[in-house]
Amino acid sequence: MALLEVKNLQVRVEEREILHGLTLTVEEGQVHAIMGPNGSGKSTLSHVIAGKPGYEVTGGEILFKGEDLLAMEPEERAAKGVFLAFQYPVEIPGVATMNFLRTALNAQRKARGEGEFSTPEFLKKVREVAGSLGIPQEMLKRGVNVGFSGGEKKRNEVLQMALFQPSLCILDEMDSGLDIDALRIASEGVNALRSPQRSMVVITHYQRLLNYIVPDVVHVMAKGRVVKSGGKELALELEATGYAQYTEAAA
Ligand code: ADP
Ligand code: MG
Ligand code: MG
Repeated sequence: MALLEVKNLQVRVEEREILHGLTLTVEEGQVHAIMGPNGSGKSTLSHVIAGKPGYEVTGGEILFKGEDLLAMEPEERAAKGVFLAFQYPVEIPGVATMNFLRTALNAQRKARGEGEFSTPEFLKKVREVAGSLGIPQEMLKRGVNVGFSGGEKKRNEVLQMALFQPSLCILDEMDSGLDIDALRIASEGVNALRSPQRSMVVITHYQRLLNYIVPDVVHVMAKGRVVKSGGKELALELEATGYAQYTEAAA
């Protein structure tokens, strides 16, 4: 079954069309990589799926589990299982990471008709997952992402994913700003979440990340469209040839 169907999506930002008829289908359990040069619209696509304000959808549709995603509020999308790990995770000073996680998790569980976690249950779960991601307890007491390094911010996103158990994870340039060790740890955390019920869309410029998170399908995006799709070998091909042939063809 298709978990996510993006059909002929057209999106404008401040009167300028950024996505010009983008089509993408992600089956349940699949990992798709979206590659493409800077400015091709990758983050725009992820923001529109998550429901970030400021984007005007002028055409096309997005179905999630067969339902009209664009008709839902961002909170409803999250409750239904859409999770976006931002390219630039936001800092929330004054809100301890631990409290943020508990509030967000319980809000989602409530929206899904599941019971709230008790404090001991929650603490046990967070400590277990944080431990596996190499996140120190002390970090969880700090404001969300405040003073976190690039690698810590990305690991914090993976921690949220592991707690929320979304059915669609979108990872926007998870590899940006990560050194090799941080990349490996974050990727292992992501791979541990792969399951036949969960799909992932991994956005990246570089083939390197896909050595760690091996995709089922690779798409090339250029100038607001998917211009080529293939298997994981397409990523290797791109690494050798670059994006120029696609950006020229898309122009
Ligand atoms: P990518 O993630 O592939 O690098 P983006 O989706 O960030 O690409 O950007 C696609 C295009 O949309 C770029 O030309 C960018 O300048 C433009 N864009 C994105 N967000 C905004 C915005 N808030 N205001 C104006 N232009 C934007
Ligand atoms: Mg970019
Ligand atoms: Mg981007």
